[in-house]
Amino acid sequence: MANTNYQKMYEKIYKTLGELTPLKADCGLLCDGACCKGDEKTGMRLFPHEESSLRTILTEDGVRLAVCDGTCDRSKRPLACRIFPFFPTIDEEGEIFVEEDTRAANVCPMIGHSDEILFDRKFLKAVKKVGEILAEDEACRAFLEQVTEEIDMYREFHGV
Ligand code: SF4
Ligand code: SF4
Repeated sequence: MANTNYQKMYEKIYKTLGELTPLKADCGLLCDGACCKGDEKTGMRLFPHEESSLRTILTEDGVRLAVCDGTCDRSKRPLACRIFPFFPTIDEEGEIFVEEDTRAANVCPMIGHSDEILFDRKFLKAVKKVGEILAEDEACRAFLEQVTEEIDMYREFHGV
């Protein structure tokens, strides 16, 4: 995608996901909404050029995080929240897969149990589509590659 219009791209991505969530039921009942319980120094990593109406901070490593107080207007939550606990990983040929985000293995009780849980297939399909949209943009594709490596590393680390 030459000269990506990022605002339009993220609008399309949010629309693709719509109101879909990993389970047809509210998975927050499993864990009392553990993934929304950060503090003011933790947050959700923004995707390249993704804007957020939440407060954003830049970490020492140059990572942009959107920080919330555990509540938000769902229609404005960042992409990372919308796809959690999954991530669209990418292989060397550019093919997109939908994998558990092993970076969050300490937070989300569903990670490591995807064989036993019936996730909403429409949600998984939408996350794949999101990955395909992101992969058309150079910066986003590089981000997918980087996070794919991190997810592989954390998988080995946590043994999930
Ligand atoms: S931590 Fe996992 S199970 Fe809990 S609300 Fe978040 S996505 Fe759902
Ligand atoms: S922005 Fe919303 S969905 Fe994301 S962690 Fe905060 S409260 Fe949860």
